[in-house]
Amino acid sequence: MNFGDLVKRSEEEKRPLHEVILEEEYEELGVPVELTRKGAAKILRAIIREGARNFGKKQKTLTGMTGMNAWKMKNYKQKLISEFNRMAMISALSFAESNAAMGRIVACPTAGACGVMSGIVYALWKKDENFDKLLDSFIVAGGIGDVISKKATLAGAEGGCQAEIGSGAAMAAAMLTYYYTGDGEKCAHAAAIALKSLMGLVCDPVGGFVEVPCVKRNATAVNIAIASSEMAMAGIESVIPFDEVVEAMGKVGRALPESLRETGKGGIAATPTAKRILKGLKL
Ligand code: SF4
Repeated sequence: MNFGDLVKRSEEEKRPLHEVILEEEYEELGVPVELTRKGAAKILRAIIREGARNFGKKQKTLTGMTGMNAWKMKNYKQKLISEFNRMAMISALSFAESNAAMGRIVACPTAGACGVMSGIVYALWKKDENFDKLLDSFIVAGGIGDVISKKATLAGAEGGCQAEIGSGAAMAAAMLTYYYTGDGEKCAHAAAIALKSLMGLVCDPVGGFVEVPCVKRNATAVNIAIASSEMAMAGIESVIPFDEVVEAMGKVGRALPESLRETGKGGIAATPTAKRILKGLKL
């Protein structure tokens, strides 16, 4: 399935993109449209509930390498970014630290990258509290994730962190763009810009624990999603179409050595400091 085909169908049939995505799901899997929408609503409610529960909290993570970042960000008055970015960053850190603390998260698209989509969902919710509009946009983000999972991969062990954080940022960029414009083509450009910006990102968790660099990557990636969406909404287009970007990402992932695909053997996981920290860990 091409995301571009879904956008084309929505334009030709003059129907909203989220409806076309739900119908595609029905045609492919036989799941009734209302049932898929209900399932997505349940997931969205879980994100909002957990977002409220953990927002800016100190959390006790498995290794102690993280757990204070959301709290620090919440207690800091930003100097550069907007209030929306700040909310999304605190939420992203909260979700990612909750994952590291074995809390409840929505693995959207994965557990390690759970903070990107969820962080932006929670920030949008706190801004407008418009559930139906958020749900429509969440479904469009799901369409982006579905295409990536079929054409490439969402797993860090298979494609590196570009497949996890990169996919999360692409989904979130499309979600934001749909939320504000309802324009499918702009969503595809936003997702392509975000994914290209994170292409090649390696998976290198220190000690194999999903804490360092994962937690902070979630928070930086929300800003990439926001910037990509703003560019697309300004009319900036990705020269390479989204579906081709996804195929390229899959190829890059397959070219990555095993040491950079969730084995904890390369990248920052192989630095002297990482090794020293691991030696001192008492688990
Ligand atoms: S570094 Fe690896 S484990 Fe951590 S978020 Fe990225 S893909 Fe997931």
